[in-house]
Amino acid sequence: MVVIRQSVLDAIESFGRDNSHVEVCGVFVGQVRNDVTCAQAVIEGRHATHQAGAVTFTADTWTHIQQTMDEQYPDQKIVGWYHTHPGFGIFLSEMDMFIHEQFFNLPWQIAYVYDPVREERGLFGWDQGAVCQTDYAVEDDTREQRKDMKLQKIEKLRQWQNRLSVLLAVMVAIFVVAVGWLVVWPMVMYDG
Ligand SMILES: [Zn+2]
Repeated sequence: MVVIRQSVLDAIESFGRDNSHVEVCGVFVGQVRNDVTCAQAVIEGRHATHQAGAVTFTADTWTHIQQTMDEQYPDQKIVGWYHTHPGFGIFLSEMDMFIHEQFFNLPWQIAYVYDPVREERGLFGWDQGAVCQTDYAVEDDTREQRKDMKLQKIEKLRQWQNRLSVLLAVMVAIFVVAVGWLVVWPMVMYDG
């Protein structure tokens, strides 16, 4: 069974739509528990090449993926990969099969294909040694994300409020000192 987060699918689709003239690719990061593959994040495949409509992971792509794994997802696994087929539908080409067999050959590793032109999508996985199109469930984490973003915004506002009140206090202090000086100084002078 495969579970993909909604935010992960959203990220792939906006990446694919922004580059709808070429194929783009990347990997799924996540966990495998009790035969369930959970795709929780994505790493965009930088430095990938595309020849004759086929996307290829280069050595630089892997270096970037490995670095991001080490820095951001040290406790997670690469659970599969995705790529786009702008305008030519959902299937795995011979080259795609080669990539899947070469780099994603563990039984729980998945391949997701998205067509940003036809707005089609499909998932492939291993079934007893063969690669087949398969169903997947979508976990809606976008509400959580929105909540996080709202909290971050409130926190930022609060920081600004704090800064403003400090500034206001400083201005009031300067004003009080200035008024005090203007009022007291002539009195002192007058006394003298
Ligand atoms: Zn392909």
